[in-house]
Amino acid sequence: MPHRSGRHFLQIPGPTNVPDRVLRAMDHPTIDHRGPDFGRLGLEVLQGMKGVFKTESEVFILPSSGTGAWEAALVNTLSPGDQVLMYETGQFATLWHELAERLQLDPVFIGGDWRHGADPDALESRLAEDKDHAIKAVCVVHNETSTGTTSRIAEVRKAIDAAKHPALLLVDTISSLGSIDFRHDEWGVDVTIGGSQKGLMLPPGLGFNAVSEKARRAAETSGMAKSYWSWEAMRGPNATGYFPSTPATNLLYGLREAIDMLNEEGLDNVFARHDRFAEATRRAVRGWGLEILCQDEREYSSALTAVLLPEGHDADAFRKVVLENFDMSLGNGLGKVAGKVFRIGHLGDFNELMLAGTLCGVEMGLGLAGVPHEKKGVAAALDYLAHGGNAAPAST
Ligand SMILES: *Cc1c(COP(=O)(O)O)cnc(C)c1O
Repeated sequence: MPHRSGRHFLQIPGPTNVPDRVLRAMDHPTIDHRGPDFGRLGLEVLQGMKGVFKTESEVFILPSSGTGAWEAALVNTLSPGDQVLMYETGQFATLWHELAERLQLDPVFIGGDWRHGADPDALESRLAEDKDHAIKAVCVVHNETSTGTTSRIAEVRKAIDAAKHPALLLVDTISSLGSIDFRHDEWGVDVTIGGSQKGLMLPPGLGFNAVSEKARRAAETSGMAKSYWSWEAMRGPNATGYFPSTPATNLLYGLREAIDMLNEEGLDNVFARHDRFAEATRRAVRGWGLEILCQDEREYSSALTAVLLPEGHDADAFRKVVLENFDMSLGNGLGKVAGKVFRIGHLGDFNELMLAGTLCGVEMGLGLAGVPHEKKGVAAALDYLAHGGNAAPAST
């Protein structure tokens, strides 16, 4: 490997760039997790995360990647053999579905084309058919990181209500929390699942569950085996800021700093910044003459954009050219779209010039990899960014 100067561009849609402030906050001696100082830290981060989830109810912090938080949501609320209704938005929904099968739940998977979010009408009609209420939970990925589509959770809530169905609503916000507007209480979500390494700007290693009163009651009768993931086991020590087993202390220092950063900027400003960078990126993609994978404008993701390469061009070969020449990592295509798409992450601790550098790397890489395109993408994005995202909408 040749010497690399400057910073690596980590433009995958998670893990994301960890800001220096968060790195400095973690560079701190590990303290006694049963000692008097720890409780204060624990209470601060448990309380702080409520603001990020926009909830007044309980939040649990788990020592896991996002996958562990998926599992915790299922094993705390359900019983073996329970039906769960899931929607195939892409690879992450598919993995969650496989996890539910392995846990011996009975998932019903509504098929999707990986170019749209979860269809509220399809969910409503499937729930309306379920007269006996065999379905105990509806599981939806808010931001499908494999495709760059964002499902309309408020509309999913309305669909469940319209079908007069009592199922719990479980939502994966692993790649949207802290990047895209999400409202646990207002949207009537029962369990929201989060992870540390995407919009929250932390290294991997923390998972989150935000839990409604209804989900808390469901947990009282849940029959799934659980021990490490048990909310019940966490609830007692959490009341005073402690955890039942050794928590990831230094990640919690980082989390406290990340929550401060989100609050200093203001969540609405954070979301507006992500919307602006996503729009600039889409203008670049159109300028190159390439196709955005997501087909519904209402569902464009503000956290990442998945871009289709023309038939006969391998997205992974293109990504390799970008990595070797410009020291930038782009996201690969996953599952059904492997080799066909690359993903530009534009979430987390990110600004105009980082986005400009990212798009320049893509445009230069397209040229070097011999992918047919027009050299108009960067120019279109810069024009938009230069005007603070207030330029008149492009005619394309
Ligand atoms: C990253 C991601 C996951 C998986 O999380 P891990 O931290 O890799 O376990 C699940 N769902 C979504 C939407 C993701 O983006």
